[in-house]
Amino acid sequence: MTLSYDPPKVATAGSSFLSSTCKYVFSPTTETHIRLPGTECLVKPQISLANLTSFRVGGPAEWYVAPRTATELQASFAWAHQHGLPITVLGAGSNLLISDRGLSGLVIGTRRLRHTTFNEATAQVTVGAGEPLPRLAWQMAERGWRGLEWAVGIPGTVGGAVVMNAGAHGGCTAERLVHAQVLLPNGTTKLLTPEEMNYAYRTSLLQGKDWTVTQATFQLAAGFDPEHVTTETSDHLNQRRSTQPYHMPSCGSVFRNPTPYKAGWLIEQSGLKGFQIGGAQVAQRHANFILNCGSATATDIFHLIRHVQREVDQRWRLWLEPEVRILGDFQPI
Ligand SMILES: Cc1cc2nc3c(=O)[nH]c(=O)nc-3n(C[C@H](O)[C@H](O)[C@H](O)COP(=O)(O)OP(=O)(O)OC[C@H]3O[C@@H](n4cnc5c(N)ncnc54)[C@H](O)[C@@H]3O)c2cc1C
Repeated sequence: MTLSYDPPKVATAGSSFLSSTCKYVFSPTTETHIRLPGTECLVKPQISLANLTSFRVGGPAEWYVAPRTATELQASFAWAHQHGLPITVLGAGSNLLISDRGLSGLVIGTRRLRHTTFNEATAQVTVGAGEPLPRLAWQMAERGWRGLEWAVGIPGTVGGAVVMNAGAHGGCTAERLVHAQVLLPNGTTKLLTPEEMNYAYRTSLLQGKDWTVTQATFQLAAGFDPEHVTTETSDHLNQRRSTQPYHMPSCGSVFRNPTPYKAGWLIEQSGLKGFQIGGAQVAQRHANFILNCGSATATDIFHLIRHVQREVDQRWRLWLEPEVRILGDFQPI
């Protein structure tokens, strides 16, 4: 429901134009920001998600908030619950395909949930969910702490890595995680160990659950030559840049590898390298990447994903499962 009204520029949550009897009371043409009670945190309407995802596609979030602290995060959840809005948690948006129609409800962006604490005695580091994984990898290398060199080329957040069990070059999140703190829908927090996460290849218990990672603690190995660890980290990045199309918008690998095959090999052998629908193209450099060549819509990418699945299935009798998380409304094709 959209009503016209003449709102103040900033209002506090619960004020008359967002009442519990009328949830979706805002006009997309207004610039109403809602301040969460007791915080400086603003909930904003109609924020473009194309600017917040690595594919650079997707419509707007009905409401968007980027909390900086645990208190602001809790207030964001409370606000959404109060107004009966569905919640989507967004990290760096590097593994997401979001519909051109956007997402209804509240999108909570975690990128500002950033803090880092080193424990010299145990060689453990505790980081906020919004910390960029590449930045963490460089920080560890510069201290001479080994264990996260593989993470340097993964453009996600720590929270996204914990949820996705992100990994590369033979390393993965599950191997380094000591525990992750998650916020439950009832407002309490809980520490989860890797065993409790049910980790497997690019999956975890958290996928499909409404639990939010707030921070994570990783075990590293201290006492190495920083120059040596930095060189190794740098080598990983260079190797990826030379084999994967990092220069254009994508979500990294689109499909999971169906053991014992590599999805990229199956797609290449199906003659699909360079195949294009609208502005979306199967990358020449790495067939498991789909690129936004500049003008792609989420629908183009979705259609290309389906086309690849059908072609590979026809040739190999294998249905590729997407690794990318597909959110919002897409017309079945
Ligand atoms: C160029 C490129 C290269 C890539 N290479 C790799 C690679 O080598 N290995 C690899 O594993 N991945 C790779 N990826 C994919 C992606 O970077 C990872 O999956 C990453 O872990 C996603 O993190 P994110 O913060 O971007 O999560 P998002 O994409 O924002 O979200 C992914 C999922 O996690 C959920 N989520 C995010 N943060 C939280 C949180 N704090 N609490 C609860 N749920 C949360 C979201 O709701 C969503 O379901 C690549 C992507 C790109 C663009």
